[in-house]
Amino acid sequence: MSVRFLDCAPVQPWWPRWDVGGTTIVVETDQGMVLVDTGVGLHDHKHPNWIVRLFTLVFGLRRDPDTTAVRQLARRGIAPEAVRHIVLTHLHFDHAGGLPDFPHATIHVHQREHQAFLHPRSWIDLAYDRADVAHGARWVLYDKPDAEWFGFEAIRLPFNPAIFMIPLFGHTRGLCGVAIQDGDRWLFQCADAAPVSHDFGVTPAWLNRIVLGNHGPRLRAFAQEHPEVRMLAGHMWRRFFEQQAAG
Ligand SMILES: [Zn+2]
Repeated sequence: MSVRFLDCAPVQPWWPRWDVGGTTIVVETDQGMVLVDTGVGLHDHKHPNWIVRLFTLVFGLRRDPDTTAVRQLARRGIAPEAVRHIVLTHLHFDHAGGLPDFPHATIHVHQREHQAFLHPRSWIDLAYDRADVAHGARWVLYDKPDAEWFGFEAIRLPFNPAIFMIPLFGHTRGLCGVAIQDGDRWLFQCADAAPVSHDFGVTPAWLNRIVLGNHGPRLRAFAQEHPEVRMLAGHMWRRFFEQQAAG
């Protein structure tokens, strides 16, 4: 089985001068190619709305359409139609902006996240962009956990190898992590429930709690207890993607 990582939301703020990428995971499954998050999309580069412009100003989002998932896959000879399914950790534009680039894909997301997207009510909801689903997206919504994954409540998605949605509400009202079986190992994409590169030492705990939700202690403990599980975050140091590309 092949799992690949693409940086589809590269940022470099003026301060701190971090070099960070946005994680898109490409998984080959029995249901065809699955993307876990899309990063920003072509429309964000061509017609950025005010929040994308603000984000670009504050976080230094690189304005380069060649960094989108659809263009990166095209360079590998993969047509957009080959992407059959997209699993979203949450619907912020830097994770879901590429949805219109894959109009044939079915979108899998937690019901609570879909509701938050439709009914924004807090400052963090400003990062939702209706244009991301204006192409008439086909949704599959999930609600109740029906499984357990390493002690986490989980929702089994209809793919092989196994993919689980792990509710980690907090950053947004319906954010979920995604656990992916990769051969005899597991990947755990904690998305924006974890700081950059799942490195809890970089940003203060109080800030993590406000922006990412209250999962830090549990995710840190889990990473220590399960070194065999590969922990990822929605945003990773750029060298992670460079190492992946080189390896
Ligand atoms: Zn987010």
